[in-house]
Amino acid sequence: MTLSPSSPSTAADWQALGARLSLRADCFIDGRFVPAASGARFDCNSSIDGRTLTAVARGGKEDIDRAVAAARRSFEAGDWRSQPPRARGRVLRRLAELIETHADELALTETLDMGKPIADSLAIDVKLTARCIAFYGEAIDKQYDEVAPTASTSVAMIVREPLGVIGVVVPWNFPMMMAAWKLGPALATGNSVVLKPAEQSPLTALRLAELAAEAGLPDGVLNVVPGYGEEAGQALGRHMDVDAAAFTGSTDVGKLFLRYAGESNMKRVSLECGGKSPQIVLADAPNLDAAARSAALGIFFNQGEMCSAGSRLLVDARIKDDFLERVVSAGRAMPPGDPLDPNTRMGAILDRVQYDRVLTYMDGARRDGATPILEGGPVEVHDGGYYLAPTVFDAVTPDMQIAREEVFGPVLSVITVQDIDEAVRIANDTIYGLTASVWTRDINMALKTARALRAGVVSVNCYDDDDITTPFGGFKQSGFGRDRSLHALDKYTDLKTIWIELD
Ligand code: NAD
Repeated sequence: MTLSPSSPSTAADWQALGARLSLRADCFIDGRFVPAASGARFDCNSSIDGRTLTAVARGGKEDIDRAVAAARRSFEAGDWRSQPPRARGRVLRRLAELIETHADELALTETLDMGKPIADSLAIDVKLTARCIAFYGEAIDKQYDEVAPTASTSVAMIVREPLGVIGVVVPWNFPMMMAAWKLGPALATGNSVVLKPAEQSPLTALRLAELAAEAGLPDGVLNVVPGYGEEAGQALGRHMDVDAAAFTGSTDVGKLFLRYAGESNMKRVSLECGGKSPQIVLADAPNLDAAARSAALGIFFNQGEMCSAGSRLLVDARIKDDFLERVVSAGRAMPPGDPLDPNTRMGAILDRVQYDRVLTYMDGARRDGATPILEGGPVEVHDGGYYLAPTVFDAVTPDMQIAREEVFGPVLSVITVQDIDEAVRIANDTIYGLTASVWTRDINMALKTARALRAGVVSVNCYDDDDITTPFGGFKQSGFGRDRSLHALDKYTDLKTIWIELD
C-alpha cells in the first residue's frame, strides 16, 4: 500500500498534522452544526492511546426528530429528488473529489478515532469511500425505467421512485466506508438521509456531511446525529417518519431493527451483519505461499475487526503442517505497531471493551483444548491503547465457541478436514453466511464448492478481493439486502406502475 507522495511520510509528521486537525463534534442537521438539544456530550477517545480527541454531541430522540423533520422537509420540497439525475450525479462526483482532496485529514481522523493503520486508512478507507460515491454519481444518469409489454391500446410504465427518508446506522470498524456504501445509492436515487455513526468512531461521518454540503447537497438532505445506539440509534429505528432503515452492525442489533420496524411503521429494513467466514485450502491449492499470506491477511487485516474476517481456516490434512508454518510466518510479519507509522500493518484494537472481549475468547479457546501455534496476545505500543498480535489456534473443533462466534479480533481458528465434503459441511455449519473462500487448482472443484457454500461472497484463490461493481452482503443471519454495485440502488427505491389507457 503506497501513500500519496504529498502525504506525511513519518509518524511524527502525522502527529504534527493531528495537532492541527479541527474536528467536527456537533450534530449536522439541516445544513448546520448544532449541539444536541439536551446539551449532553460524550468523550471521543483515540484508540491509539486513549487520549480524548473531542467531546461529541450526544444526540438523542429530540435530535433524531429534528433531523428526520429536516430530511422530510427537503424530500417533500424536492430540493434534491426533483433534480435531474445528471445534476445529482454531478454533486456526488464533486463530493468524491472533495474526499480525495481531503484524503490526509480524513485518513488521519479515521486512524485517530478507531486505531487502524494510517496506510490502510489512506489506501483503503478514504480511497474506496471516494470511489464508492463517485461510482453512484457516475451510474445514476444511466439507469432507465421500463415500459411493460401491453396491448397497443395502453401504455404501462414501471418507474423507480426514491423511498423518502432513510435512516442509516453503521458500525465503528470501517466508519466512512460503511456510511458511503449506503449514502452513495441512497442519495443518488434522490432520498434524504439521517445517518447515525457508531459512538466509538463518529468523527469522519460529521466531516463527510460538511463536505457533501460544500459539494452542493441541499440543506436537510444529509443529516448526521452522533450518539449511542440505545438512544439515537433506537429513536431512528423506531421513527414513524423514516421510510427505510439501512443497518450495518452486529446480528443482535440487526434483529432489533426488525423489531423496531414491526413495532413502528413497518419501515423497510436492510441488514449487513456479522460473519464467521471460512477459508478452505485444499491439497491442490495453486500457490501455498500466496494462499498463506492471503489467509493471514484475511483474518489479521484491520486488526481482525472485520465482518468478512476469514476467521475459520479449514485446511486439508495432507498439506496442513506445511501450510500452517507459512500462515504462522505471515502472521508474525504483521506485528501491531504505531497506527500513525506508515509502515505499520496492524494497528490498535478499538478500546478496552473490544480488547477484553478478544482476550476472553482466547482464554475460552485454550480451556476448550485448542492449541495456540502462534501466541499473539497483548503487545505494548502506546500507553492507554490496546494492541494484540496475531494469534493462531490449531486443533479447533467445529463445536468450540472459538469456531462458532464472531471474535472480531486477530484470532484465527484452524480446523483440519479430510476432504472437500467435510470442508463444505463444516463451512456451512454456522448461523452466518457472509463471505467464504476456496483455494484449489481444479476449476470444477472451485465452481462446485463456490455453489455449495452458503455465503453472499465466495472468493476462489484469493480472499475478499472485490470492488464497488460487485454486491456485498450475507446469507442467513449475516443479513439481507446488498451494498455496492447497481443492485444496491434497489434498496432505496420503490417500483411504481403507471398504467395509461389510450383513447
Ligand atoms: P453494533 O451492532 O454494536 O453497532 C452498530 C451500530 O448500531 C452502531 O452505530 C451502534 O450505535 C448501533 N446500535 C447499537 N445498539 C443499538 C440499539 N439497541 N438500537 C439501535 N442501534 C444500536 O456493532 P459494532 O460493534 O459497531 O460493529 C461490529 C459488528 O458489525 C460486527 O458484528 C460486524 O460483523 C458487523 N459488521 C458487518 C458488516 C457487513 O457489511 N456485513 C460490515 C462491518 C461490520
